[in-house]
Amino acid sequence: MSLGILLAMAGQATEFGHHFCDSTLRLDYIMAGDINSSHIFLDGMSVDNGWWGRRQNLDAMPLAGNGSLAVSDPDTGNVLYYTTFSTLYNEWLATDEALTTPRSFQNVFLVPFPRHTVNVRVTLTDARHDTLTSMVHRVDPSDIMIAGSGAKPLTQPHRYIHRGGDSHSTIDVAILSEGYTAEQTGQFYTDATNAVNAMFGHEPFGSLRDKFNFVAVAAPSANSGVSVPKNSDWKHTVLNSHYSTFYSDRYLTTPNLKLMHDALTGIPYEHIIVLVNSDEYGGGGIYNLYTLTTARHSLFDKVVVHEFGHSFGGLADEYFYDNDVMTDSYPVDIEPWEPNVTTSTSNPKWKSMLRSDTPIPTPVEEAAKWQVGVYEGGAYSTHGVYRPADHCRMRDNETEGFCPVCCEAIRLLVQFYTEGD
Ligand SMILES: [Zn+2]
Repeated sequence: MSLGILLAMAGQATEFGHHFCDSTLRLDYIMAGDINSSHIFLDGMSVDNGWWGRRQNLDAMPLAGNGSLAVSDPDTGNVLYYTTFSTLYNEWLATDEALTTPRSFQNVFLVPFPRHTVNVRVTLTDARHDTLTSMVHRVDPSDIMIAGSGAKPLTQPHRYIHRGGDSHSTIDVAILSEGYTAEQTGQFYTDATNAVNAMFGHEPFGSLRDKFNFVAVAAPSANSGVSVPKNSDWKHTVLNSHYSTFYSDRYLTTPNLKLMHDALTGIPYEHIIVLVNSDEYGGGGIYNLYTLTTARHSLFDKVVVHEFGHSFGGLADEYFYDNDVMTDSYPVDIEPWEPNVTTSTSNPKWKSMLRSDTPIPTPVEEAAKWQVGVYEGGAYSTHGVYRPADHCRMRDNETEGFCPVCCEAIRLLVQFYTEGD
């Protein structure tokens, strides 16, 4: 290690330590509204020992998501910590139910515990990158109503599946059980191991294994399996997950973000993969929120990596439906924030990875010739949205891995989280 790098690291440590303690402030929010108006409310604050997130690059994020959280100095306005995310609430706003029924959704965010009073601003944005709503509140670290760790549930049984290094210098991923009874704990650990093997079977994760820790957290459920509303089959599980989210049969999620984070008390974690004990195809991944997927399905190893592409990598779906244009989700006159889809044929965001003679749009018949191109169709739209490769883990389960653009996007994100400027 060079002296220059050592000095840079010392500088970052000082900056982090100047503003933050080595502990975590958990912020619980309610996001509520309907198609006409949205609101964000503070729902609770608590503290946990240890801060497992990044300690450098604190005031910015490479990806915008559909929402942001900024911790700032109330006197100077300087941003001290910044993170971005997407929410289930944003997705729900596009449903018919949001036209008629105001609803609320939980969200939980983790930030380093501030040494001094700070402002926290939470903002939600729509598909056009316009602000849906924004709220700001003050956090005084001496506030007696920040719940101490004594208020938290006991730490659940857990086991490290892979330890790439010290938690301070790696990305900590918790794999949480859902719908496994205490007697099925062994099965859960086997499924969690399969998930990690699937991840490292994909580039760039395989080459970056030293940058990740995977800890499997075996929170037992009272019932085995999860709720299937279309069959009137309701179950009591750790997260009360269910299919038919937004009345879409295969969309399996949990609205219980508070229960999810409660179940991870005492565990170092930054990203969450929930494995659901079910053999029915289903799941979802939401950027910087969670991946949730069924672990007993034959395509599990492909799906869990695809969903982690969403929740960790902020990657968009590269698939699209014939004759179906979801312009609400991806307006064709707006450049999406995800790194692997574009609406710009003149200046696609992966331009530097294109050979100069690449035809744009790139004909799919020539996909073998152009490993990276600008192929029309992506993010659910047949026209007006473009993907970087004909096939990719973000498009289908038949493909071996991520396309070169998705690989590079993940690699850059890992670098951002684990290395200095
Ligand atoms: Zn891709």
